[in-house]
Amino acid sequence: MTDCIFCKIIAGEIPSAKVYEDDEVFAFLDITQVTKGHTLVIPKKHVKDIFEYDPELASTVFSRIPKIAKAIQKSIPGVKGMNILNNNGEVAYQSVFHSHIHLIPRYQKDEGFKLHFEDHSDTYTQDEFQQLAASIKQTIESGD
Ligand code: 5GP
Ligand code: ZN
Repeated sequence: MTDCIFCKIIAGEIPSAKVYEDDEVFAFLDITQVTKGHTLVIPKKHVKDIFEYDPELASTVFSRIPKIAKAIQKSIPGVKGMNILNNNGEVAYQSVFHSHIHLIPRYQKDEGFKLHFEDHSDTYTQDEFQQLAASIKQTIESGD
């Protein structure tokens, strides 16, 4: 895609700090470095978000994640954990619309990045909760 910043990075038209490349996947340091070693893993094929993946592309991209994650952990002292994050859609804070997986190494709990899940479990009855799951399950099974 001609006006996509990540397609331009893959093509070498915009410089990047590359950490990995093969025929289908590219990985490079995120410019903001939320924590040291913050890396983005992207498919070379331009897809906007997870809703445009097929199983083959998902398997291609996600199968590279452990290798890159382990390399980050091995090569940077002090990495104790890692958040692996994928934002889809503006509402989910996606800002670059070429799908990417964030690998955010963690050194301690209170640093550069906060992820806080509010517990809303008390807003569902058991029935509503099971109904919600059943609806998603049914859609998966119908192959839609
Ligand atoms: P999102 O908010 O879409 O999940 O993440 C987009 C990420 O792309 C941001 O963390 C941002 O720092 C990173 N980013 C945007 N432009 C560039 C760039 O030109 N080079 C690099 N290395 N990262 C970029
Ligand atoms: Zn692109």
